[in-house]
Amino acid sequence: MKVSYLKKVGPRRAALLSKLGVETISDLLWHLPRDYQQYVRCLAQASEGDQVLLHGTIVSCTVPFKPPYKAVLLTDEGEVDLTWFSGARTYIQATFAPGESLTIEGQLRFFRQRPGITHPKVATATADSDIMPLYPLTENLSQKMLQDIFTENRAAILDATEEVLPPELVQRYHLPGLRESLAALHYPSSRELAALKTGLSRYHKRLIFEEIFLHELGRALVSYAQRQRFGIAIDISVDTMADELTRRLGFTLTEGQQAVVQEIQQDLAASQPMNRLLQGDVGSGKTAVALYAMAGVTTKGYQALLLAPTEVLAQQHYTLFARILDGLCQVELLCGSLSKKQKDQRRAAIHEGAADIIIGTHALLQEDISFHRLGLSVIDEQHRFGVEQRAVFARNNPGVNQLYMSATPIPRTLALTMYADMALSSLKTLPVGRQPVQTLFLGSARQKQLHQEIEQVLQQGLQVYIVAPLIEESEKVDLENASRIYEQYRVQLAPHGVDLLHGRMGAEAKQQVMERFGRGETQVLVSTTVIEVGVDYPRASLMVIYHPERFGLSQLHQLRGRVGRGSHPGRCIFFAPGQIGRESRERLQVLVDSTDGFYIAQKDLEIRGPGQLFGMRQWGIPSFLVADPIRDVKAWEFARDEVRAILARDPALNAREHARLREYYIQRNVLNIIH
Ligand code: ADP
Ligand code: MG
Repeated sequence: MKVSYLKKVGPRRAALLSKLGVETISDLLWHLPRDYQQYVRCLAQASEGDQVLLHGTIVSCTVPFKPPYKAVLLTDEGEVDLTWFSGARTYIQATFAPGESLTIEGQLRFFRQRPGITHPKVATATADSDIMPLYPLTENLSQKMLQDIFTENRAAILDATEEVLPPELVQRYHLPGLRESLAALHYPSSRELAALKTGLSRYHKRLIFEEIFLHELGRALVSYAQRQRFGIAIDISVDTMADELTRRLGFTLTEGQQAVVQEIQQDLAASQPMNRLLQGDVGSGKTAVALYAMAGVTTKGYQALLLAPTEVLAQQHYTLFARILDGLCQVELLCGSLSKKQKDQRRAAIHEGAADIIIGTHALLQEDISFHRLGLSVIDEQHRFGVEQRAVFARNNPGVNQLYMSATPIPRTLALTMYADMALSSLKTLPVGRQPVQTLFLGSARQKQLHQEIEQVLQQGLQVYIVAPLIEESEKVDLENASRIYEQYRVQLAPHGVDLLHGRMGAEAKQQVMERFGRGETQVLVSTTVIEVGVDYPRASLMVIYHPERFGLSQLHQLRGRVGRGSHPGRCIFFAPGQIGRESRERLQVLVDSTDGFYIAQKDLEIRGPGQLFGMRQWGIPSFLVADPIRDVKAWEFARDEVRAILARDPALNAREHARLREYYIQRNVLNIIH
């Protein structure tokens, strides 16, 4: 049921809630408090600055034409002055009229010994609780509005809970019921304040278990369905094309790459569909591995698909594949910026089998493309790709072998938790001849050196990336932003050609910028992190990153992987235009000292510590509401065992005790897609 059915929720609030991802009452239930606040209810116990909740009667209200407006609240313990320096006169006059009996909430201040509250609010706290949940908010939606909605609709909201966990599980782990748990979080009792504030009360734990269990089961359902299908077995071991590819590429695969190609060959030849994740730093040669596998598959009459997260990357893969495979097989590019007519033509070629290799963006998977004989799909930068997308793809293309590639190595501990259903391969060394990127930190005082470094590179005819965290000026944080940096360098380095690239540009404009850079017409590219992954311009040898402290270590590592991809050694400068804390500085030192992506990922995890989910997304970890894949690793193991046991007995969730679960996955498009 939509939230707009609730009291106190009109179209305006419904729109605000929707910004928080809350559309239905059940979404609202899962909009959990991030903290709790306790109010002091008794004047005698309150001191300056405390949040208080005071009950009394208004004895006077003075609302002149101009603020300040004043009112006096008489409580059992004496008078409290209420003051406004701004606000709607008529509202104040009506709400705080003499004789009104009110509960007031606000911060207590003393002025000449008299207690007072500035900009008081009428409290929503009910008499039985003096703690208030504090919810995540969005602009124009206040804490009070949310609290109001919850207090006014208690029954309607709680009635929307749906217990989906099998009762047997709830009993075995002594979990409180879902309704009970959500009630405890939204309607807290002061007895439980301490536990609730930790975020790990037994109610939280129940929700954590549920979230993990449902995630694990969803994923297992998808891979179970995939395994049940006959995979398309393709024997590319006597690949006649390999020699030709080596000749055309101009290099032989490293031992590491060969080992991965072999693993892929074995997977392809097996009767179960491949489900493999290939991890390796930017530049470790994943694309080359994919090229061999994909070309191999085409020699057996199958099509192969390569999907990239952005058009820029898809375009780049296409250029490479079309060049290397010219005359050997037909390569087609399919992406959003093509005209309808072009798209239709290419779809027809794919359907009829005229196209052997198809390169596109992840978005393609949303559309139903009909392949002639798809045998292998490769998904680059898999971390931008969710379980539901996988389910859609599996339904449309049963049995197709899948290779996922990731340039952000996932720490081992995390990989074991999160990717238990995948086979893992990794590329740990860079191809010979490639030197690791040298990294340097410059504080704000070293701007001159920064400019010298840039000049030097430009003098050699090489190119520079300059990366900043934001596009435009932000009032909240004092940060250099890409637009301003662009303006500065555009003037300063005019003869070298300077361009700006950011996420709000259209696909065509982006591509033009990248093409100019590719042709060398511009030597300097100022950008946000839009071209974060995989971009390959051999003449780019210096990367400058403004405000490196704003990025995660793995992200920085990935960014710097864009330089030094040609014959010139790469260099990366972290430039901190402002003050930077010691901890941040130490964190960045990890990158100055090491270029091993797996090590950096592990450090990233250790330094952030469990419980801080910020940035997990870059590892392809979906963001969880309450669960934390590191902290809750034990719960994860239990959940996984339970999922296995359930699927062994009842793989399609047909049993009566699984009816609720079944419904849950049907609603979420997981079950109906795969069955
Ligand atoms: P990734 O996709 O992992 O970022 P790429 O496959 O794009 O890496 O390879 C990065 C660069 O290294 C490319 O310019 C590629 O031509 C080159 N390269 C890949 N494998 C080898 C190899 N075995 N020997 C020499 N150069 C290689
Ligand atoms: Mg790549």
